[in-house]
Amino acid sequence: MTTKKALITGLTGQDGSYLAELLLDKGYEVFGLVRRSSSSNLDRINHFSNNIQILSGDLLDQSSLMDVIAEAQPDEIYNLASQSYVPISWTQPALTAEYTALGVSRLLESIRRCKPNARFYQASSSEVFGQPDESPQTERTAFRPRNPYGVAKAYAHWMTINYRQKYNLYTCCGITYTHESPRRGTEFVFRKITHTVAQIKLGLANELKLGNLEARRDWCYAKDAVYAMWLMLQQEQPNDYIIASGETYSVKELVECAFNCVGLNWEDYVSVDPAFYRPDEPVQLVGCIDKIKTEIGWQPEYSFNHLVELMVDYDLKKLSS
Ligand code: GDP
Repeated sequence: MTTKKALITGLTGQDGSYLAELLLDKGYEVFGLVRRSSSSNLDRINHFSNNIQILSGDLLDQSSLMDVIAEAQPDEIYNLASQSYVPISWTQPALTAEYTALGVSRLLESIRRCKPNARFYQASSSEVFGQPDESPQTERTAFRPRNPYGVAKAYAHWMTINYRQKYNLYTCCGITYTHESPRRGTEFVFRKITHTVAQIKLGLANELKLGNLEARRDWCYAKDAVYAMWLMLQQEQPNDYIIASGETYSVKELVECAFNCVGLNWEDYVSVDPAFYRPDEPVQLVGCIDKIKTEIGWQPEYSFNHLVELMVDYDLKKLSS
């Protein structure tokens, strides 16, 4: 059997790094698209960077994408690159659209021209639902994005489906909800909490300031999510799926669980700081995972509690070493 080849954009991010590890384990030859002038932190891929081929290209530049695809001749392409922090999408709305929306057009067009039999995974996001009129959301729930990031992801989602319909390409969208891991940045609340709890336990901090404690999210483990992405591209027919845990927990429940892991009472350390409040909080974002469960047999392996424990343990070890 010939070795399968995969190209990943966003290789240096959380999902890209886990996906690359998964594909290397499965014997793939892995290529990563990385911006030449990227100031990206390579920490997440240092431990396996000798086993992958880095190709330089940019989602802003069509010809670089065509060159990379022509060179790598990938069987599978995973587009995990984007400007992914929602608040920044308000300060850089046009650049967010360039990468997150038009970047996908350029990528699809490059696939159509250079490797039309490649299978394509597009990372859609629950942010496309914004203010959904039903909860939980399904693959048929209307998109009502409420920030430039969600708008850009909605465009990319529909372009991916349009290329499937118009050109018969094997293209899929996975609508992921928040997914977390020790490789998540501390600007996101999950890792902020596990990291600060570990600091408090070790005497390196004495308080944790948060925004809205009642905000609820559907959190799953990034390793579970990337497995779903890979599984989607192994099916006979391309299709779009929600990738989520199917459950929500509040920030307060997350805080309680994380402090419990280290035997401390959260109320002694947590205070609410309006600076961390969101002006446009989405309402009850929670994914219905019936379709992906029944059609391709995926469901998360890691529970919420298990994920919190794993991340607190990681942060304790990292800060103590
Ligand atoms: P995202 O909004 O799903 O991309 O992820 P975040 O981790 O940034 O935020 C998750 C939720 O936690 C949002 O509803 C925030 O309003 C809430 N939240 C509460 N306190 C904080 C905080 O201190 N930092 C962040 N980032 N979010 C917070």
